[in-house]
Amino acid sequence: MSENLSSILDANSKYADSFGEKADLAMPPSRKFAILTCMDARLDPAKFAGLSEGDAHVVRNAGGRASDDAIRSLVISSEVLGTREWFVIHHSNCGMETFTNEKISGDLKSTFDTKEGYFINWLTIPDREESVREDVSRLRNHPLVSRDIRISGYIFDVKTGKLIEVVKG
Ligand SMILES: [Zn+2]
Repeated sequence: MSENLSSILDANSKYADSFGEKADLAMPPSRKFAILTCMDARLDPAKFAGLSEGDAHVVRNAGGRASDDAIRSLVISSEVLGTREWFVIHHSNCGMETFTNEKISGDLKSTFDTKEGYFINWLTIPDREESVREDVSRLRNHPLVSRDIRISGYIFDVKTGKLIEVVKG
């Protein structure tokens, strides 16, 4: 067993010991909102946004971008599970600011000897605020997104833990 796995299982066993009433939580998020954010290890949405189990959906990917797959999850979140407000949260010092599509596709070609990387839009972030505006706008204008869902955009500052508004909901 890897060291990671054994520490995960230890922590999980303690968590399950006090799981209690969480067994009765409903599937739809009780606070009817979803957060789309980056997978960055420094961001913990439960902590920075004060979430408990059952409260909200959190969709994460590299950059917190409104990719087709993030949209898939958000559409399920609203149309099947009833969320009515979404928050797009990118952050300072994001790994997605450190390379371009061309660069990563070239690097992957060297590593794996395939051009597959060139077929992927890596959704890199050349301009932090612009990426938030782009994603909020893509979601607001998407044909599968109901016009009455309130959508706003923020940047989480990894130096202060604060959320900074970029697009008002
Ligand atoms: Zn990031």
